Amino acid sequence: MALNEIEALAKTCKRCKLWSQRKNVVFGNGSLSPKVMLIGEAPGFNEDVGGKPFVGSAGKFLDELLMQAGLTRDEIYITNVVKCRPPKNRDPDRDEILSCSPYLDKQIELLSPAVIITLGRVSTFELLSKYGIDVNTSSISKIHGWTIEAGRVKIVPSYHPAAAIYRNELKDVLKEDFRRIGELIKKPGQAKLTSFL
Ligand code: URA
Ligand code: SF4
Repeated sequence: MALNEIEALAKTCKRCKLWSQRKNVVFGNGSLSPKVMLIGEAPGFNEDVGGKPFVGSAGKFLDELLMQAGLTRDEIYITNVVKCRPPKNRDPDRDEILSCSPYLDKQIELLSPAVIITLGRVSTFELLSKYGIDVNTSSISKIHGWTIEAGRVKIVPSYHPAAAIYRNELKDVLKEDFRRIGELIKKPGQAKLTSFL
């Protein structure tokens, strides 16, 4: 099945309870042959209204981060672990993440990015568990900026850009991580990122 057919399926999806309060399914967007895929947690208010990922204040800061990495939205693909907004922006439940995961699995399979940047705790630990990787911590502060080899793809965990809106000190940390992600993509031999496995 092609990606646009899967998107069409998702648009009418009722596989979990998040369907009932959504305005729009936020499937994801960007390049269809991306080197880099970004995976956030779930749509927020603005994304639910607009049907597109990261268009609110976290998205504005994400654009700054992409600039640090020398990337534009056109050349990457952005999506979320769950495609419908959880009420009051609560964390998605385990059963919601599981119900929605076939969409993300297909996106990763069909888009086949070289690098996946996971934005925030929920996305990071969901992806690591998908690939059967145990990093021996549940703290994003210990593993942000690492390059984790997961078969043909490299996973780079990152703080969620929204976290920097509440914790100003994270802004520079995120910018530095994205600057190094830029190095990783352009000159893989020279990137000074922690690699493990
Ligand atoms: N936060 C996310 O995790 N995803 C979005 O699309 C917007 C905000
Ligand atoms: Fe379907 Fe995912 Fe939306 Fe749940 S969050 S209704 S599984 S598209």
